[in-house]
Amino acid sequence: MHRNITRRDFLNGMAVGVGGMLANPRIGGLLAAQTPTASAQDRAGYYPPTLNGMRGSHPGAFEVAHSLRDGNFWEKAGKPVETGENYDLVVVGGGISGLAAAYFYRKQAGPSARILILDNHDDFGGHAKRNEFHLGGRMLLTNGGTVSIESPFPYSKEARGLLAELGIDPPALQKKYSDNHVSGGLGFGYFFDKETFGTERLVTDAPGGFYGRQGASSKWADFLARTPLSTQARQDIIRIQEAKVDYMEGVPQEQKKSLLSKMSYKDFLLNVVKAHPDVIPFYQSRTHGLYGIGIDAVPALDCWAIHFPGFQGMGLDRVPSKGLSFTALGEVTPQEEFHFHFPDGNASIARMLVRSLVPGSAPGSTAEDIVTAKMDYGRLDHRDSPVRIRLNSTAVLARHVGNPASAKQVEVVYGRDQQAYSARGKAAVLACWNMVIPYLCPDLPAEQKDALHYGVKVPLVYTVVGLRNWTTFHKLGVRGVACPGMYHTSMNLDQAANIGDYKSSQSPDEPILVHMLRTPCQPGLSAREQQRAGHYELLSTSFETFERNIRDQFVRVLRGGGFDPARDIEAITVNRWPHGYAYEYNPLWDPDWPEGKRPCDIARRRFGRITIANSDASAAAYTDQAIDQGYRAVQELFSS
Ligand SMILES: Cc1cc2nc3c(=O)[nH]c(=O)nc-3n(C[C@H](O)[C@H](O)[C@H](O)COP(=O)(O)OP(=O)(O)OC[C@H]3O[C@@H](n4cnc5c(N)ncnc54)[C@H](O)[C@@H]3O)c2cc1C
Repeated sequence: MHRNITRRDFLNGMAVGVGGMLANPRIGGLLAAQTPTASAQDRAGYYPPTLNGMRGSHPGAFEVAHSLRDGNFWEKAGKPVETGENYDLVVVGGGISGLAAAYFYRKQAGPSARILILDNHDDFGGHAKRNEFHLGGRMLLTNGGTVSIESPFPYSKEARGLLAELGIDPPALQKKYSDNHVSGGLGFGYFFDKETFGTERLVTDAPGGFYGRQGASSKWADFLARTPLSTQARQDIIRIQEAKVDYMEGVPQEQKKSLLSKMSYKDFLLNVVKAHPDVIPFYQSRTHGLYGIGIDAVPALDCWAIHFPGFQGMGLDRVPSKGLSFTALGEVTPQEEFHFHFPDGNASIARMLVRSLVPGSAPGSTAEDIVTAKMDYGRLDHRDSPVRIRLNSTAVLARHVGNPASAKQVEVVYGRDQQAYSARGKAAVLACWNMVIPYLCPDLPAEQKDALHYGVKVPLVYTVVGLRNWTTFHKLGVRGVACPGMYHTSMNLDQAANIGDYKSSQSPDEPILVHMLRTPCQPGLSAREQQRAGHYELLSTSFETFERNIRDQFVRVLRGGGFDPARDIEAITVNRWPHGYAYEYNPLWDPDWPEGKRPCDIARRRFGRITIANSDASAAAYTDQAIDQGYRAVQELFSS
């Protein structure tokens, strides 16, 4: 536990990556002004996907925005340096929504349209980030955030069309590469930690898969008998998982659904199912991955919709009912028959968008060859390219040059390399997070600013640990372990995806990546308050604290397999997303706004030559929504 681990990737990565970024929040006049082209992304060897350590919202990515929020940015910022650049469009935010907006704009305006895309991170893609490890002489890929092409909504014509034009056919790819699981034969387990459950124990062969959903019922008694849970808790869990009881007998279907949409799953288990409180720690973190909050804050109806147990005897049908205006996922079941993911998640979509926007940025032309393609970051902000992607650049102002009603230009000011710069566009799409927009556009109407501030993005962490092999997992017979009481509430061998020339780990003695999930929840508070507290926690937790907890968890969970962190851990990447999923309305706290009056509807209103994209604009944390909002934002510009 106390020996040093090899972190060569981390150390090398930091040395290459941070130079030239906004690690210091002091802006303006502190260094000799650099021209935008002399920046980090143009230097030889710049390749952020291979960086380890604290990623996601990495040091240097957020300080400028926070100083803008805190009202002290402009005190320190000198007069912006005018780049003299004039674009057709300036896009703030280089996530999938901003890249899609640039794609749609160019499609409509023609290939010579000049577009500048600004992003505060050292890499493009927003949440759709690629993590690239090189272990034991091979490349291993995974997602730092957005992982799969899936959605509770059917993909729109535009979102589906964009994927098709890029060459991505998810059902065909899924079919072609379906035989992908390295860890076939291995099951799932639960780790009961002594702090939460009194006794420390790994219990393998969990029935019903990782989420213990309905099914595999005959095995629950056997599994629970091996856990340290109390007799009463075991009996109640068997009842929750298996019994077909209508706990709201006599209540009409619509009313049942309405009641379930206004109570948490935790309250459903305690007050409707009448389960013993000892069952709660077993289920508490089960919603963390999808919602970023625990069962105390997720509506029971949503949990029914995603096949959580307890509802099997309640006669609920899946026909959308009237009168429930928004229940996030509550009434909606997954519409897409596919659930496809690239080895680096939807970073491949972002990379394909960039390849199509910026000539020479990556070799190849197919959904297969993008996986192993090495991007040339030196091409992204090249003066010869009509589309330029400028990284490490935080927009701090987007204002019309003149009256918003009649202005022909928008000036966008951004901080980069400790200097403020300005560029102009005939229009701007703000594909950044809603909560930053009121600071960028102080002239927005008050009602719109309030609406932009309403949603609090969901914080979460995807930690990725590179192991020299996975013999301990193999010995224990697990490929994933739910750890409901621990710092990270799950740890899973990376889901393999062999696509094109890319081959993931196949045999236990080969290196592999392990995914861990942490959500900084504060049960007892409302969802929005939990999310606010979580932002603070994530930004004030050091990498060392993460590392210590990761090593501790690996040792405790895999002790029986002989895991040695000093020997087995090769690299750690903490993908920290204080501003993760878009806020989705939560009927436990939010009012039933009428159609068209939700905060996200008001927030995304067009303001002169400025339109608003990003998945926040539809209050739904999905890639198709990010694309759809990029499309809408561009259509609004062309409709004038
Ligand atoms: C951990 C995680 C996992 C997810 N998994 C999935 C999944 O499996 N499937 C799915 O469909 N969706 C998933 N999502 C949802 C995901 O958010 C969307 O799918 C999509 O990637 C969002 O794209 P976006 O462009 O709207 O926002 P973002 O990806 O957030 O991009 C916006 C960009 O704007 C930048 N920005 C903000 N302010 C400024 C500024 N002032 N100046 C410059 N740049 C700025 C941001 O830093 C960011 O880079 C996941 C999200 C997270 C956090």
